[in-house]
Amino acid sequence: MSGRTFAARLVAWQKRHGRHDLPWQRSRDAYTIWVSEIMLQQTQVTTVIPYYERFLRRFPTVRALARAPLEDVLTLWSGLGYYSRARNLHQAARVIVDTHGGRIPDVLEMVEALPGIGRSTAAAICVFAYGSRHAILDGNVKRVLARYRGVRGYPGDARVHQQLWRHAESLLPARHIVNYTQGLMDLGAGVCARNHPQCEQCPVCADCVAHVKGLTGKLPGRKPRRALPQRSTIMLLLQNAGEILLERRAPQGIWGGLWSLPEISNAREARRVCRERYGVTAIEVKKLPPVAHGFTHFKLTIEPICVRVKKSAAQAPGTVWLALADAVSAALPAPVRKIMLSL
Ligand code: SF4
Repeated sequence: MSGRTFAARLVAWQKRHGRHDLPWQRSRDAYTIWVSEIMLQQTQVTTVIPYYERFLRRFPTVRALARAPLEDVLTLWSGLGYYSRARNLHQAARVIVDTHGGRIPDVLEMVEALPGIGRSTAAAICVFAYGSRHAILDGNVKRVLARYRGVRGYPGDARVHQQLWRHAESLLPARHIVNYTQGLMDLGAGVCARNHPQCEQCPVCADCVAHVKGLTGKLPGRKPRRALPQRSTIMLLLQNAGEILLERRAPQGIWGGLWSLPEISNAREARRVCRERYGVTAIEVKKLPPVAHGFTHFKLTIEPICVRVKKSAAQAPGTVWLALADAVSAALPAPVRKIMLSL
């Protein structure tokens, strides 16, 4: 077993082999670090980079973000998924401007109190922006620590989660907190991959329980299997002269605030709904192949119906007619964009 601590080996490895050129590593500005941390939740680095750069060009400061309409924020987020992250980012920017004078607080508990920021994200922001000493525990870090310390069980279970937090706290070094935290992230994103970890390249393999005992395939424990409920909906693609009707969804709930297609519960209602709700006359009605979409808590099947319509002068509130090319670049849920691109 190595004589150096876990942290000392990780810090030395990060300095030599870790990532140093990611766009959000160029500054210690708390705002840009916060944006990157939110985007990186549930999303790969390579996907995030172009979104991050576009977002900061449009909203270079927290005040610019707070001033912007939510619609603009959602449009820039379009395609990244998990839109509640964008809504919370926008809401938190307004809280930061109204309550904290436009400066992201440097106290962990105050950062954690902002909308959409959990304990680990708050800790990462405080570490990278202010150099404060806090433990992080995102998905990748849970995997590294579960393997290194040999923690059994599914990390989503409260007991296992608590145990991992205790390990995360106990391994924290007194110095080099930025390299250490980045090292944990880098190790989890690369060497300690979910499948086929490269233990021979790992700085902590000498005393990693999973490696030493041959348990890397078993740790961390998998989520207990449970069949997800199935839901279905019918969406109307109203088309007129190359334009499509989009409808804004309610601010709360699934895909809140995004543009989407009108929904109905029964295909037989299509013509009546066109007339009564959208003031248009259906000329031709055609079913399209269903599209499946997975959420964390359920699976959704969308049955699209394409309806060629004749427009009237009046337009239903909360709707907009857009050319197909413009419609696909609006802030849309991913499966709705997929349906449009299949036309
Ligand atoms: S030795 Fe292997 S399993 Fe253990 S932390 Fe390193 S990469 Fe992960």
